[in-house]
Amino acid sequence: MLASLQLALDKRKEEGLLRQRRLLDSPQAEHIVANSQPYLSFCSNDYLGLANHPKLITAMQQAAGDSGVGSGASNLITGHHRYHDDLEKQLARFVCLPAALLFSTGYMANIGVLGALVGRGDAIFADKLNHACLNDGSYYSLAEFNRFAHNDVAALESLLKVSSAKHKLIAVDAVFSMDGDIAPLSEYLALCEKYDAYLYVDDAHGFGVLGKHGEGSLNHLKLKSPRIIMMATLGKAAGVAGAFVAAEQVVIDYLIQTAKSYVYSTPAPPALSATLSASVNLIEQGDDLRSHLFGLIDYFKSNLSCRKWHLMPSQTSVQPLLVGSNQDALALSAFLQNCGILVPAIRPPTVPVGTARLRISLSAAHTLDDVKKLIVAIHQAESVL
Ligand SMILES: *Cc1c(COP(=O)(O)O)cnc(C)c1O
Repeated sequence: MLASLQLALDKRKEEGLLRQRRLLDSPQAEHIVANSQPYLSFCSNDYLGLANHPKLITAMQQAAGDSGVGSGASNLITGHHRYHDDLEKQLARFVCLPAALLFSTGYMANIGVLGALVGRGDAIFADKLNHACLNDGSYYSLAEFNRFAHNDVAALESLLKVSSAKHKLIAVDAVFSMDGDIAPLSEYLALCEKYDAYLYVDDAHGFGVLGKHGEGSLNHLKLKSPRIIMMATLGKAAGVAGAFVAAEQVVIDYLIQTAKSYVYSTPAPPALSATLSASVNLIEQGDDLRSHLFGLIDYFKSNLSCRKWHLMPSQTSVQPLLVGSNQDALALSAFLQNCGILVPAIRPPTVPVGTARLRISLSAAHTLDDVKKLIVAIHQAESVL
């Protein structure tokens, strides 16, 4: 086995697919120290710049002082602390859904929820560009797994029309993590009504950013229905870690009994929940952060002019620059790195073959000057590469 692992690693390297971790020696922020070098970073999903916020650092220190650092036992034994419970109630109120449930990560939430809500005899309908953990959750659930072309409402309808599954669940990213575009959730919800299906929305990249006060994609599109089950992560715009699922009370009650990644896992430390409560307050009061962020997005989109590479049609903080080949994407990323700017090159299997790209992630922590520097560097790269 070891020899075949080495062979597989060598092959990845040859194909330009070997991934390398950078060693970080600073907090997650717009200016970071990675591999001992200072960089201006467009890599993180910390869209509001909360990951290093002084109020959240204080909240975490205080909460650790009065609740300790460990959860000690699973939720159904003695792990469910008041800080977890308060945060669940606060999140449900914030996203205007009846109830919410915390998971330690978004990955765990997707696996747990899909595994619990559907099974043999049921069917999941999934966008082809869904995040990997929605796919993993679908396989794990044993429900029939139907994939449709990206954002293609008609393709989805043709699948629903012929399905004889007992329970039907449409599962999609609300904002696509590597494309930044928003799913046609209103159309999907209409299909749910028509074909008695339910809608599972993964709002990892919309929560905190979209919506009137950062409530996320559902609020942005003004969608409300008992057929909606929402998931959002708390390690991106919320700046900390974890995830929650929000839905009708009966769904949450059922998940508490049956979502295995909830039942058989130790919850995140209570102090993290206390920190997240402070973070949700900052999100709710963060209209200025969001308007600064959307100002940067507008500026970037209207001032970047490339012939070789093009920006994908995204309205959100994820602004992918489509390059094509793995080697070209790596070369562009390396060029920017030499200019002191970090932007990750995203390659297959994270994105389809031939669509390697730079995933530029804008944050409210960036200044207009930061964005101008990035634009100048990309324009320079175009004339050199
Ligand atoms: C990041 C992400 C997840 C996983 O969330 P974690 O909390 O990082 O495990 C799930 N879905 C989408 C769309 C994501 O981008």
